[in-house]
Amino acid sequence: MPELPEVQTVVNDLNEKIKGDVVVSFWSEWPKAIKNKTLKNFQKEIVGRQIFGVRRIGKNMFVDLSGGKTLYIHLKMTGHLLVKEQDTRNNNQTKLKTQNPNIKKENYFDDRVNQYIRHKWILKDKKNRLKTIEFSDMRKFAKIVLDDTEKINNLKEIKALGTDALSPEFTFQKFQEILERKPKGQIGIILMDQNLIAGIGNIYRSEILFEAEILPERRIEKITMPERKKLYAAIGKILKKAVKLRGTSDSDYRDTAGAPGGFQKVLKVYRRDKQACQKCGTIIQRKTLGQRSVFFCPKCQK
Ligand SMILES: [Zn+2]
Repeated sequence: MPELPEVQTVVNDLNEKIKGDVVVSFWSEWPKAIKNKTLKNFQKEIVGRQIFGVRRIGKNMFVDLSGGKTLYIHLKMTGHLLVKEQDTRNNNQTKLKTQNPNIKKENYFDDRVNQYIRHKWILKDKKNRLKTIEFSDMRKFAKIVLDDTEKINNLKEIKALGTDALSPEFTFQKFQEILERKPKGQIGIILMDQNLIAGIGNIYRSEILFEAEILPERRIEKITMPERKKLYAAIGKILKKAVKLRGTSDSDYRDTAGAPGGFQKVLKVYRRDKQACQKCGTIIQRKTLGQRSVFFCPKCQK
């Protein structure tokens, strides 16, 4: 599932590629993903709107549109957005840039995971060039909501979100407050609780806890002050590094060019069970915690 670094990569890409563009049309083969409208009403309400910008809280993405509307997207398990620009260089109006054989080397769109196109937006930029945003979603769990910006911001699930792990509000003091609310909680579960800290999921909790040398099952009340500081620093370090490397493509995550991220190459414990710890040589272990697998080194982590 895309976590904070993957969603941030998509947000950055979209701000670069489609900001200022206008929606021309929308198509869907899976209208069930649209949670608050019929397909017909969704089409009626989105066409003609300009894209002002894209932002994120945790794993939730918001596309702010003209007329005070916001498109809220949750990529869930396998959702990802692909931006394709129309190529007019060959005077071929229907040919997409990505199908140009000259750039085939960089063409990731043929990748199988990019082929589950459920929804499509056609956009027009200021120079009247057409672009397409394709929403690939193999498992069909992704979610789309279009409403007034105010109403989106006030959705129960959005208001319930905890502090975003890379926001300026996520200070050490804030982290400390969050931990103190759950003294009996296990750190491996607390880190993934979106209503406490927004953005960390299964991949990054394992990597963060390895970096901080703390076992996933430790109770909050047993974690010392120096360890808390180390853990806070590890959250920032791992997430920033993952954003820089454009996320982790453990399985199906792809960026808006259809390309995989780079963080899977530097994973130290996630899905590295039965392999030697890079620091001490002990075999990495795997356990289920909070209904998901967690990976750790039983020697390096205390
Ligand atoms: Zn180790």
